[in-house]
Parts: sequence; C-alpha cells; structure tokens
Amino acid sequence: MPDTQPIPTTASVPAGDPQATPPSAPPGVTQATVVKKAAPKTDYKPSDVSPQRRVQRSFAVRLWSVRHSRLLEWFYARFADAFLMLHPLWKSIGYSRVEAPVKFIEKRVKGFMFDCRMCGQCVLSSTGMSCPMNCPKQLRNGPCGGVRANGHCEVEPDMPCVWVKAWEGSRNMVHGDAILNVQKPVDQSLRETSAWLRVTAQAAAAKEAARNAANGASA
Ligand code: SF4
Repeated sequence: MPDTQPIPTTASVPAGDPQATPPSAPPGVTQATVVKKAAPKTDYKPSDVSPQRRVQRSFAVRLWSVRHSRLLEWFYARFADAFLMLHPLWKSIGYSRVEAPVKFIEKRVKGFMFDCRMCGQCVLSSTGMSCPMNCPKQLRNGPCGGVRANGHCEVEPDMPCVWVKAWEGSRNMVHGDAILNVQKPVDQSLRETSAWLRVTAQAAAAKEAARNAANGASA
C-alpha cells in the first residue's frame, strides 16, 4: 500500500501566516472544536448572534414531529387541499394582502413544531418532517461527513443531526422516498416569505394549465 499524503485544502493560504492554517484535530476530537479553541481570545464575546442560536436547548417538539411524520404527512395533504380550495378567496383578496397574516401564523406554527427558519421553500415533506435549515451548514441534500457516532451534529454536539432524523422520519412516511430527490440550492431571496401561499399559488396555476390543456384538446 502506498503512503497517502494529506491533500492541501486551499491554495490561497498566505505563506508564513500561522493563523491561516487551521490546526489538525487529534483522534476523537472534531475539527470544529479545535478551530474554536484556536480562535483568538478577546474581551468581546457576542451574545447569541449566531443565525442558528447555538445555545443548549430542547429539541423535544422537533423530534416529536419527526416521530409522527406519517400523521403530519397525512394532515399536511388535507391542509394543502383546503388551502388550494380557498385559492379563489386568496385571489380575490390579493395574495400580497393575505401574505402578512398567513406568514404570521405559518412562522409560529412551523416554528413551534419544526423550528422552522422560514426559508420560504419548504421541503419538510421530502425530509421526514425534519427541517434541513436547522443544520448549521444548511445542507439540503443529506448530512456532511461529520455526524458523530451517537448520531449528533458535529457543530452542535447537543443536537441530533437533522439528516439522521430526516432519514428516520422519511421511513415512516408514505412518500418517504422523496428524500432521495435532489433539492435545489436555497434561494435566499425567498426568505421570510410564505411557503404555504407559494405552494398553493403554484398548485392553482398547474390546475388551471391542466384544465386549459384539456379544454383545448376537446375543442
Ligand atoms: S424547509 Fe424552510 S419553510 Fe420548511 S420548515 Fe424548514 S425553514 Fe421552514
């Protein structure tokens, strides 16, 4: 067996800058821990500025949702149908006018149940009811290589990896194999918008296009 050589990670590291080269992790310690310990110490310690709010917290409700993914899948299908039936109402009021109140409710309901981050492009039905935006790396197509042996996150050791949970949740669901579909990158311009209204408007447009096509074919 030939000796394997470490692969340089970046060509842009300035020569002679010791802080530019992250130290390597000894066995049993994650790279994230090593980098954190090696970070310069200053008097300023930001309080809760992380977009992921990396503080110790309970994940009980989020994990309940994953465990009951089949029930939530069934419920969401009915909920989406009801929302679609109300499309004429949304349209007559104006989608832009109903957005604020719908978003208010969506943010609180999904925030409570899934720790939703309001990315505006909901993929819960494809991820076992585990929100991928809770991944500190915001990966939308499966876990990174840093999942711990106990199934927890490399970056947030107290948190179960959202993708480990996504796989578990998807195995309970009727359409759980949707987890194998490749998701598009997050469109950040849709942040803080209502996924419920977007999906409804898209479904209504598809329904109308199908009706027009059927009318055209029979004419
Ligand atoms: S995928 Fe996006 S919209 Fe759906 S729960 Fe997660 S952050 Fe919220």
